[in-house]
Amino acid sequence: MGPRSEPGPVDLHTHTTFSDGLFLPEDLVAEAKNRNLSGVAITDHDSVGAIDRAVAAGKQHGVEVVPGVEMSCNADGVDVHMLGYYIDHQAQDVLDFFENVRFHREERARKMIEKLKELDVKVPLERVMAAAQGGSVGRPHVAQAMVEAGAVPNVEQAFRRYISYEGPAYVPKMKLTPGEAIGFIKQHKGIAVIAHPATYRNDNAVYTAIAAGVDGIEVWHPDHGPRETSHYKEIAQKNRLLMTGGSDCHGGRKYNHVFLGEIPIPYRYLAALKRRSRAIRS
Ligand SMILES: [Zn+2]
Ligand SMILES: [Zn+2]
Repeated sequence: MGPRSEPGPVDLHTHTTFSDGLFLPEDLVAEAKNRNLSGVAITDHDSVGAIDRAVAAGKQHGVEVVPGVEMSCNADGVDVHMLGYYIDHQAQDVLDFFENVRFHREERARKMIEKLKELDVKVPLERVMAAAQGGSVGRPHVAQAMVEAGAVPNVEQAFRRYISYEGPAYVPKMKLTPGEAIGFIKQHKGIAVIAHPATYRNDNAVYTAIAAGVDGIEVWHPDHGPRETSHYKEIAQKNRLLMTGGSDCHGGRKYNHVFLGEIPIPYRYLAALKRRSRAIRS
């Protein structure tokens, strides 16, 4: 590597066992090293639990670990994900916040199980929790437990007959708007980036996020084709926003998704994130 060449590529969107990924934090970082990534961001769903372990592993392997989180929000009935980079993940109120999110998710699963019971569908809570594999429990796990219990032939039927938005066992989620998530991230000195915008119904969420002061857009993602990538790049450039991207790797071939490092992001995009982080903190 010459003095002017930049470090190798990075992956700014990954999940570990602290949400619904298959890799332990240490294994994810070791795998990043194997794949010649110079940096990797840990962005578990509503959890910052993996970060310190990943940072320690990063020091050992010479991989730059970027602390992150992927927050679940909802905008007019559409699930929207907000990435938060470099937030103060050790702050007590940050830990309390995510603990509270987790509590509400479990509470919601319990309520759905209660409603199902009233409909003569018996689903054990332990099966639902097991399906979530220690991650954020939600409707897909209730549905999976229903299939295992023989109540429905498949997950699709579980949703269609019971737990869809209009279903008899539906329980609403704790609602966090994208604006609230952005506010939370910024309040804790983080950088807010709207995740995989092409997966939402339209660009309303993107413009809502921009109006709420979002710092960046995730431009490169497995669910973005070349057309979407250039579309969101253009929006980012027009609005002078940061650009990020990554594999959204959950480990293995879970979800048939792209594997760690398969959407290599040039290091300069991480450098821009870090410059912004330093500016916020100076
Ligand atoms: Zn997501
Ligand atoms: Zn993700």
